[in-house]
Amino acid sequence: MIIKAQCEHCQAVFEDEGMEKTVWCPSCGKETHIYAKGSDYSFKPNVESDSFDGIIAMGYLLAVLLPAVGFFVGVYLLFKNQHGHGAAVMAMSSAFAAIWTVVFLHFF
Ligand SMILES: [Zn+2]
Repeated sequence: MIIKAQCEHCQAVFEDEGMEKTVWCPSCGKETHIYAKGSDYSFKPNVESDSFDGIIAMGYLLAVLLPAVGFFVGVYLLFKNQHGHGAAVMAMSSAFAAIWTVVFLHFF
């Protein structure tokens, strides 16, 4: 089966047979992984994206319950190239920090 693959180094798109294996990029000559599927040509941009699901979920939870901690999880996600989730977790942490402050001041 011929699939389209994208080089993780130079982003060049090329065709190869098979999937989920290591090949040599014809554009830059470096070793790269193929994650593209033959059917929909979808690329998996981040190799580690799946392994961060737990941290991302924890980040959103902490952003609500413990905004001070959630904020740092958001920073951590940013450093791990999870920019969308990192920014969202940090934004939620800021919002809920304000909400909890208002609640705290209201009841005490
Ligand atoms: Zn390349």
